[in-house]
Amino acid sequence: MKDYELLIAGNPELRRKAQPVDRVDEEVLELFREMIHVMHRDEGFGLAATQIGIHKRVIVLDCSESYLPGDGYMYIVNPKISWKSEETDIQEEACLSVPGLGVPVERSLELKMSYLDENNDEKLLHAKDFFARALQHEMDHLDGKLMIDYLSPLKKKMALKRIEKIMQWKDSDGEETSIK
Ligand SMILES: [Zn+2]
Repeated sequence: MKDYELLIAGNPELRRKAQPVDRVDEEVLELFREMIHVMHRDEGFGLAATQIGIHKRVIVLDCSESYLPGDGYMYIVNPKISWKSEETDIQEEACLSVPGLGVPVERSLELKMSYLDENNDEKLLHAKDFFARALQHEMDHLDGKLMIDYLSPLKKKMALKRIEKIMQWKDSDGEETSIK
């Protein structure tokens, strides 16, 4: 394991647009293993490759978490949304790259998308509610977008400052805060 560092908001690498993968080969499977390691290490249930500084359109979700369908990992490569519902809702999201903050984000309630799975097979899916939200959140990462971008410019500035403080605190103490 390379034990990749998780990138935190403020790092310009999180703003780069990820490139499509040609095919799901051993290199991509290895990337999935690294991503799962980071996701568990930092206690998340979804991760985009962008968050560890790998600019490939690769996402992993841990569906053993009760909010997501299925019970294993979901491996997503080159996701493409073909349809999004006009109906939206606003829910608070969390993000490993935005520690200690919950941010309300408006997202489509449903979507349809295609992607390649871990066997390089093209799949189609129809997602709703929390699942659709998680997918939209992770796909934003692949386009260099973070949930704090949905805040007003002033609130975004405040959020970035708070993240900076949390990271300093974390460095000095080794533990996470629960500031909201
Ligand atoms: Zn995130």
